[in-house]
Amino acid sequence: MLTGKVALVTGAGRGIGRQIALTLAQNGAAVIVNYNGSKDSAEEVVAAIRQSGGSAEAMQCNVADFASSEEFVRTVLDQYKRVDILVNNAGITRDNLIMRMTEEDYDAVLDTNLKGAFNMIRHLSRSMIRQRSGRIINISSVSGVLGNAGQSNYSASKAGLIGLTKSVAREFASRGISVNAVAPGFIDTDMTRNMTEEAKKALNSMIPMGRMGSAEDIADLVLFLAGEHSDYITGQVICVDGGMSM
Ligand code: NAP
Repeated sequence: MLTGKVALVTGAGRGIGRQIALTLAQNGAAVIVNYNGSKDSAEEVVAAIRQSGGSAEAMQCNVADFASSEEFVRTVLDQYKRVDILVNNAGITRDNLIMRMTEEDYDAVLDTNLKGAFNMIRHLSRSMIRQRSGRIINISSVSGVLGNAGQSNYSASKAGLIGLTKSVAREFASRGISVNAVAPGFIDTDMTRNMTEEAKKALNSMIPMGRMGSAEDIADLVLFLAGEHSDYITGQVICVDGGMSM
């Protein structure tokens, strides 16, 4: 159980982040539901958590912005005094073949997916080190492990997140803070819903289990990594992908 723990989940108004927030709250954590643009959805997540007896609050921040993230973390710490579990889930895609990819699309994806995680870890690190405990869970992707045609910006950001995870895990290991990455495969959310049926079929054929995963599949692993049963695990990249990357 995570009773008494404070969890901060970025991009928790929709998709995988939403399910992570619900799962952590169901298991006793007080959850800060971060959103960037989806205020209403984030408020719905908070309402659902409160309705089932949990504790949650929605807070806006564009994690890609260094100064805004610093202000956001300061507000959180003023209010909650500590963050025990940080889940860097916020992410975007701007897919294109590299010869057609714009600088803007490259930068936007790197800024949100990779720099966003850096910003949150950087601003929370002093507090976590002082409390000598913490769990940082970065949501990477199987695209960062294997690469994916048409996603050079996204794959680079998610592979970068793996390097960030391992380096910070080494820096924080002696301070009681674990840092791990979860690499989802093909998960049914808004991010994948726009794909054509043909593209989905092609992707499904690459998954040994023959089907997409759910947000719950990811949230269940995050719960394990956030809890006491994962005490001796750090610097790992765990794929939740129906066997896609084996
Ligand atoms: P999604 O449904 O598109 O949701 C993306 C979330 O990220 C939204 O809550 C969004 O918040 C948030 N976000 C985007 N930019 C942000 C910013 N600058 N600051 C704060 N929040 C921001 O995507 P998803 O499928 O749930 O993906 C969640 C994570 O899993 C992402 O990191 C994604 O790369 C990763 N992942 C997904 C899959 C998949 O198949 N779905 C596979 C591998 C990895 P707002 O709506 O408030 O902007």
